[in-house]
Amino acid sequence: MADPVLDIRGVSKSFGALKASDDVSLDLREGEIHALIGPNGAGKSTLIRQIAGALRPDRGRILFDGRDVTALPTAARARLGMARTFQISALAMDYTVLQNAVLGALGRRGDVFRFFRRVMLDRDLVARAEVALESVGLAEFRHLRASELSHGQRRQLEVAVALTLAPRVFLMDEPMAGLGAEGTRRLTGFLDGLRQQAPILLVEHDMDAVFHLADRISVLDYGSVIASGTVAEIRGHPAVRSAYLGEEAAP
Ligand code: ADP
Ligand code: MG
Repeated sequence: MADPVLDIRGVSKSFGALKASDDVSLDLREGEIHALIGPNGAGKSTLIRQIAGALRPDRGRILFDGRDVTALPTAARARLGMARTFQISALAMDYTVLQNAVLGALGRRGDVFRFFRRVMLDRDLVARAEVALESVGLAEFRHLRASELSHGQRRQLEVAVALTLAPRVFLMDEPMAGLGAEGTRRLTGFLDGLRQQAPILLVEHDMDAVFHLADRISVLDYGSVIASGTVAEIRGHPAVRSAYLGEEAAP
């Protein structure tokens, strides 16, 4: 089997007496969606932050494309192709869809707004931005402001922004949050195809979406991986049912 794109080995992180990550090992392989589920406070976001480089593990290693990135800052990991999407205020709401994608292609340097007119004349950047918008289905909305998009379309725009940098992996923390049933359905369909471009480590509460999308599921509880397997394996896992699915697996 091919080496994993992302390989998390024995990662631990404590906040005082609280073990938010307790010897977590998991990996992400080409072409797959690996879902990470678990109750509130289980340590899902903390793990994503360590993978992205926003938080340094106390112990353990994070390998990305075979390279140890444990000590690299967020920006360096992003340059290597780690795309963390769906963070609050990742979009410039007063700018158009196309301008947001161009900003993404630039690598979001803080100073770009001053030079924005000139940036928009850069044909390579604009072309890259347009290809990304095309691939998420937003090309026809390119001249709308980001603020005029629906919540679901904004999520797609965030993915387009990430795509301009040719990501090797996507890290997504609760992309369905705040979307209605229809928005969730559409974003689910979109993520389904996105795994072909880069594998996705997906933290998500919506279990219908998880069961529909995941090639593998890992379950976190009190910072530990208590189960990992296919959808069928996880649905039937007794410890998972009691720790997490109890209330949601009923019908
Ligand atoms: P999840 O995303 O699974 O809901 P989190 O990773 O956000 O869980 O949180 C895991 C645990 O770590 C929680 O008990 C949370 O309160 C705690 N925690 C997260 N970040 C910090 C922090 N910066 N300082 C102290 N405790 C934290
Ligand atoms: Mg969280």
